[in-house]
Amino acid sequence: MKIKIIPVFLPENQCPFNCKFCNVKLANGDVLIKNHHDIVELIEKSLKTIKKRYPDSFKEVAFFGGTFTFGSLKEIEDYLKIVKPYIDKREIDGIRVSTRPDFFNKEIAEMFVNYNVTTVEFGVQSFDNNVLKQVRRGHNEKAAKNAVKLSKQYGFKTSLHHMIGLPFQTNDIFLKDIGETIKLKPHYARIHPLVVLRDTELAKEGFKAPDCKDILPALAKGVYLLKKNGIEVIKLGLQPTDSLNERESVLSGCYHQSLKHLVFSEIYRQFLQKQIEKGVKEITVSESDKSFFYGYRGSNRDLIEKITLKSDNKIERESVLVKGEVLRIFKEKIYDKEVY
Ligand code: SF4
Repeated sequence: MKIKIIPVFLPENQCPFNCKFCNVKLANGDVLIKNHHDIVELIEKSLKTIKKRYPDSFKEVAFFGGTFTFGSLKEIEDYLKIVKPYIDKREIDGIRVSTRPDFFNKEIAEMFVNYNVTTVEFGVQSFDNNVLKQVRRGHNEKAAKNAVKLSKQYGFKTSLHHMIGLPFQTNDIFLKDIGETIKLKPHYARIHPLVVLRDTELAKEGFKAPDCKDILPALAKGVYLLKKNGIEVIKLGLQPTDSLNERESVLSGCYHQSLKHLVFSEIYRQFLQKQIEKGVKEITVSESDKSFFYGYRGSNRDLIEKITLKSDNKIERESVLVKGEVLRIFKEKIYDKEVY
């Protein structure tokens, strides 16, 4: 079932931390909510559109921005109470919250159950304690793993946010992070390449985040491994906003309007390469996947010249027909080394 999210971005004063890469206001744009009345207005407005266009979708109100569970239990409950009438009327199916792993415990989980929270997203960023320390994250690997396990025990769909390109986080460390995530078996993952935003600690330190080309092979492999292990990658990269697109908001890093296309082109390139090595001369692909096979701005053309590519609408996305056999791209072994 399609999930439709009504995102509510809470104010940045909701978070007392100061992670070196964070500028909540810039990353979330100018849509930060000021009071409870704003939330009701936003839900009503969004519901009108969703009911009309996606009547059969699973509808979640999502509390993003800051650290949702930082406040007192009463403050957290006050936010959840706003959504309750919509859940009682069955206009909304659940609530999604995004928070830090070290601000999640049994008491909060029990309250979440009572208010129909369905999905919990954790900003993990990395499981490497040195990387976490370098960006002044304020929690360690153990806290992240415990939070994910607790969330799953309570039956919440659980999502992990990862970053790539953080100070001291080599591509190998990123792939180890992905390996740890696979072991934890969450439902979803989001991956954001580090972008150094103005007015952050990293900007003050003059840190230069790696470009897309420096992280692309590891990022693509990470996405492939997650998907191969049944973890849905629900977002790649920061959502472009007007504030992010303003001049000098993004100082360095992989901030790309078509990051998914870039990443999938690289994964499909690896797949093509393997087929060519096996001597395959022709493959039939889904029409909607064709652009990934050709690659972002034709980046895979050199390989396409070595294999005949046909397309057929009957082929499902992320599948191909090779010598009469249907292969699922994210189930095939496409990297020589797939251990983590
Ligand atoms: S915990 Fe989240 S919202 Fe708070 S400073 Fe760190 S990244 Fe930003």
